[in-house]
Amino acid sequence: MLQPPYPELDNLLEMMGEAGKRLSEIEASEGAAGNISVYLQWPVELRTRFPLVEPIVLPQPVPKLAGETFLVTGSGRRLREIIDEPVASIGCIVVDEGGETGKLFTSHQRRFERLTSEFNSHLAVHYDQIVASGTNFHAIIHAQPPHLTYLSHVPRYQAENYLNTHLLRWQPETIINLPEGIGFVPFAIPSSPELMDATLKSLRQHRIVVWAKHGVMARSDVSVKRAADRVEYAETAAKYEYLNLSAGEIGEGLSPDEIRAICTTFKVQQKIF
Ligand SMILES: [Zn+2]
Repeated sequence: MLQPPYPELDNLLEMMGEAGKRLSEIEASEGAAGNISVYLQWPVELRTRFPLVEPIVLPQPVPKLAGETFLVTGSGRRLREIIDEPVASIGCIVVDEGGETGKLFTSHQRRFERLTSEFNSHLAVHYDQIVASGTNFHAIIHAQPPHLTYLSHVPRYQAENYLNTHLLRWQPETIINLPEGIGFVPFAIPSSPELMDATLKSLRQHRIVVWAKHGVMARSDVSVKRAADRVEYAETAAKYEYLNLSAGEIGEGLSPDEIRAICTTFKVQQKIF
């Protein structure tokens, strides 16, 4: 939930660009992998930057969001290039009355045919979160950080408890930034209703979820860069775990007692350790 003054369209485009650049720097968005979407409840002037308008059918009805706005990356666009020319990579949707259709605003510089094919999962999670919490802002990122994705191929890390007790033990900040831990969704075909449904449920309990053998989805109701930070915290934790496996598991990690003491000091509520 944001308090006024609300960010302007240009600030939001800039933050999407910075998040995309950072995800690229940590190698979580090779080629055109990854996508970003942002929901805002307050009205913004779109036509100056996005003068072309066409009708679209939304992947699911969102009747409570009539008149409200989404900024969404285009299919096949590179997250690292958003920062240079955001209007080439992003489309804006304003939801119509009834919530089944919308208007897609794009630029003359538009370099995509359709919005990201993962928009069904993005929209389902946005709607679930917005209706449950009443937030006026919500950002979602899908990225493919390699260490985290690699560990999701190893059977023992496919159990949520094992994944979290092993990844959240390498730095004191990890439990502070991810107090609900990392959700885990078993492999499902990209863009499928199964993936959408499992993601929506896991993101009710977590701020980031691993899609087995694929990547992650992270959310924030504060900023798009905060969602990118969550990807980075989880990927850094996975990198330590990978280093430890490579070194023959000689690292101790923080003990459960040490992590509980950190949580007491910093007043972090958690149920993992
Ligand atoms: Zn992907």
